[in-house]
Amino acid sequence: MQQSGIERLDSHHQQFIQQQALAFRFTQQELRQLCDIATDLTMWGEAGLNEVWPEIDSEKLAPKQRRQRLLQQLRNHWLQLKEQPNSYPALPLAPAHDTQRIKRTHTEKTKLALGLCPVASPRTRCCNLMTLDAVENCGFDCSYCSIQSFYHGDEVRFDSRFGEKLAQLEIDPDRFYHIGTGQSSDSLMWGNQAGILDALLDFARSHPNVMLELKTKSKNISHLLKTDCPPNLLCTWSLNTPTLIANEEHLTATLDERLRAARRLADRGVLVGFHFHPMIHYQGWRADYAALFQRLVDEFTADEVVLVSLGTLTYIKPVIKQLRTRKGFHSKILQMPMVESDGKLSYPQAIKQEMFSFAYQSLRAWHDKVFFYLCMENHHLWQPVFGYEYPSNLAFEEAMKQAYLSKIRNIGDRGER
Ligand code: SF4
Repeated sequence: MQQSGIERLDSHHQQFIQQQALAFRFTQQELRQLCDIATDLTMWGEAGLNEVWPEIDSEKLAPKQRRQRLLQQLRNHWLQLKEQPNSYPALPLAPAHDTQRIKRTHTEKTKLALGLCPVASPRTRCCNLMTLDAVENCGFDCSYCSIQSFYHGDEVRFDSRFGEKLAQLEIDPDRFYHIGTGQSSDSLMWGNQAGILDALLDFARSHPNVMLELKTKSKNISHLLKTDCPPNLLCTWSLNTPTLIANEEHLTATLDERLRAARRLADRGVLVGFHFHPMIHYQGWRADYAALFQRLVDEFTADEVVLVSLGTLTYIKPVIKQLRTRKGFHSKILQMPMVESDGKLSYPQAIKQEMFSFAYQSLRAWHDKVFFYLCMENHHLWQPVFGYEYPSNLAFEEAMKQAYLSKIRNIGDRGER
């Protein structure tokens, strides 16, 4: 019983499974399956294991067959819930944490955390983004976020010598770089705490051949509004539908707040961009995303927008295991059809193609003016979605950089500074 993960369940479910375990004499592996299914049903807000427990006519069946028949029926029920687009309740799913639970600590790290994008893979078409970690761990609570499985609980770490090390970073003046923050924590939610934003802005000013991307789900642009932002600064918002923000992106800024923040920076001539990652397939997704895409083309011009990236939920098994251990965790992000995809688990290709094509076609007003790309996806998807693809990650990276460079140059032409 201990090995089955039963401790993840509430006492009511624990008691129920213990009773059934005595009656059916489940093996340890069968108990683990039962506990996983019970955990998922609770996490998804569906009827609990005890409510869907099937009646098994035990007279005719041997004990082993009885168990197998029962598990098969439960597994079919679980799979059926995963196969259909999930529906979000009227009242958003409760977050595991209802307030900012984090503790800020200042530590002195030896090295600057600069490296290749942590989720890049040779098996997917990737842009070779370089990521810079100004802060470790995040104060937001997005249910699908794998960052949280990397870091230490509720502690958020600021590197006390970050600015100093960044200023000493050697940059080749003859090369164009795309460096992004926002992989290890949100780029803007902390404002200029520990001088992180000033350090980043100084770095961009000193290196006009670096496109510095600050990725965020925050509305906290107050420091940037007070500062003269360099033309090679790019602020990008991860966007999602109001239903998904309310149910899966806890403690983050609302859609209105994110778009308003982007609008205010664009009004000051700062380049902006939008990431739709993860797009999630749920009942009503088309109408909800259509409304979102329409708002974008209504509220922003292609000149102001550098990029639109598309991506979706992808998991490695340790992250799924970690999500199932979170107490009081309510989410539908695991209630989805999953297939093995480039070493990870994700939607079947058909669903991805449907969502990404819908997104790209909904933003056709920006085709050839804004740089569109798939993030962390197989190169096979590019042609059916975009009608083109890059032969290599290097070609992708090069095309992205040329597109970004021309937007930076455009700013000068637009005379917005
Ligand atoms: S495409 Fe996405 S996953 Fe790949 S390197 Fe770029 S940002 Fe990272």
